[in-house]
Amino acid sequence: MDAQQIMDSEEFKRCATFHGHICPGLSIGYKAAKVALERLGEKRADDEEVVAVVETDACSADAVQVLTGCTFGKGNLICRDYGKMVLTLLSRKTGRGFRVAMRPDAFPPDETHFQLLSKVMSGKADDEEAARFRELHLQRSRDVLNMPAEKLFDVKSVQMTLPSRAKIEPSEPCSRCGEPTMHTKLKTVDGRKLCRDCLEQRMC
Ligand SMILES: [Zn+2]
Ligand SMILES: [Zn+2]
Repeated sequence: MDAQQIMDSEEFKRCATFHGHICPGLSIGYKAAKVALERLGEKRADDEEVVAVVETDACSADAVQVLTGCTFGKGNLICRDYGKMVLTLLSRKTGRGFRVAMRPDAFPPDETHFQLLSKVMSGKADDEEAARFRELHLQRSRDVLNMPAEKLFDVKSVQMTLPSRAKIEPSEPCSRCGEPTMHTKLKTVDGRKLCRDCLEQRMC
């Protein structure tokens, strides 16, 4: 599929709706999730059969959530915030999976795009610059979608110890703030059971 066909697809539209806009990061996440799912031979996880580990909390992670079905709420989306465009997708059944990492030379930053982005983010761009930015942002997204996955990513097979499934634990009130807290997350200090928030406030 070329970029236009991908952008017209229901799958991509769902990613864009969920994320709120189309951008190069979302497009990279889309491509990474598609490769990982294909290699894993799994369809979208309705429950927890697939676990995703993302190494950035930026735009790309949203496409990963939509396409793989791995979400925070289900406990099968893990974010290790290393600031890297890396997705590891694992099968819950086998613990095996694939690590999809952006190649260092795959998508070099574009100077003009980057400068305009900084201007837009800081609110200093005029209308013309903002329009030029949107155009370039979309063009960069198209460039990503048009690239063959093997040019964008290094994919390797991995085996990982999987985190335990999402648990539903009974709550009890924190001794300090009184808010119901999952009892396994309370810490006993001087005979009082404190939530993490109160524990931190107590420290400082
Ligand atoms: Zn974005
Ligand atoms: Zn508390």
